[in-house]
Amino acid sequence: MSNIFNNYSLKNHNTFGIAVKAKYFSSFDSVLELKKILKTNLHQKEQFFILGSGSNILLTQDFDGFILHNTIEGICILEDNENDILVEVGGGVVWHDFVMWSVSQELSGVENLALIPGTVGASPVQNIGAYGMEVKDTITKVHTLEIKNKEVKIFSNKDCEFSYRNSIFKMEEKKKFIITKVEFKLSKAPLNKTTYGAIEDELKNLKLEANPSTIAEAVINIRSRKLPDPKVLGNSGSFFKNPVIETSEFEELKKEFPDMVGYTISNSQTKIAAGWLIDNAGLKGYRKADAGVHKNQALVLVNYGNASGTEIINLAKEIQQKIKIKYGISIVPEVSIL
Ligand SMILES: Cc1cc2nc3c(=O)[nH]c(=O)nc-3n(C[C@H](O)[C@H](O)[C@H](O)COP(=O)(O)OP(=O)(O)OC[C@H]3O[C@@H](n4cnc5c(N)ncnc54)[C@H](O)[C@@H]3O)c2cc1C
Repeated sequence: MSNIFNNYSLKNHNTFGIAVKAKYFSSFDSVLELKKILKTNLHQKEQFFILGSGSNILLTQDFDGFILHNTIEGICILEDNENDILVEVGGGVVWHDFVMWSVSQELSGVENLALIPGTVGASPVQNIGAYGMEVKDTITKVHTLEIKNKEVKIFSNKDCEFSYRNSIFKMEEKKKFIITKVEFKLSKAPLNKTTYGAIEDELKNLKLEANPSTIAEAVINIRSRKLPDPKVLGNSGSFFKNPVIETSEFEELKKEFPDMVGYTISNSQTKIAAGWLIDNAGLKGYRKADAGVHKNQALVLVNYGNASGTEIINLAKEIQQKIKIKYGISIVPEVSIL
């Protein structure tokens, strides 16, 4: 029988460091093991949740159900072509370790995503992105196990319906499929995406030419300076998504807030920097007991020590309200709230 633990502490399984428990908890390191666990049918009797590293969740209470934790390892080259390499990666592989493997092989396609916490299996869920790169541009296939019939189902890139911090796995297919492995196409020619200003400046400061390794190094340096390390200060990165509004609305808001930061994403829509909205509302560094807005990164909510998930969600709600009142814009969490 697979190991299923009762009353299992999740404190070390979420980067906010929230001390709650799961009624049932089990890890799987292979598809076979996962099938064995699903044979118990516990997932049918209890609500369940699939967990990677817990770096994009907020636990607000004990989880009265079954947590399935993906630890499938392995990086396997499937094809080595003239211009690229096709690689299959286990869903439990640490994302940053995969990025470091890729750059060590002088391959390009994920280097700008260095140091994003989490697992490879979670990377398609919200189409992770940073510094001008999104994982959707390298993913070719997502291998899953369909929960209801315990059969393997493979999604093509198109099937995943990727968009900004979103995919089919965050929407309607959530809870129907467990991502077991992900296939990536990595380029042998360096993509050198340095247009995101800070990377170019960092490379200049380090006196380095752009290549996948140096770009990863630059991104690691920038992120280490900017973002709090969850091992030191509990957080889940950007707590809110950047809201997308009508460009006409943005033009109106600009009259009142000339410094408002927005990026045109289509003829009629503009994406607003949620961090700017929070910062400009005077909330950077705002703190209530042990729940707070990070002092340098307004988009990052932090646990200064003993904050409960409820205290963090209450803080998030207060921020949402203040942003709505000040700008008329609704901001929504990027993290999954449990
Ligand atoms: C300091 C910090 C910085 C961050 N920076 C970024 C950033 O720059 N860009 C970015 O995009 N994100 C960022 N994040 C968010 C986070 O790193 C990513 O969302 C990451 O992909 C989450 O991986 P995880 O394994 O921790 O997933 P979890 O937090 O464990 O799960 C997240 C979601 O994915 C689902 N899920 C996880 N594994 C599977 C699976 N195998 N099958 C099906 N569903 C699954 C879960 O059910 C949940 O809904 C940051 C987080 C932190 C703490």
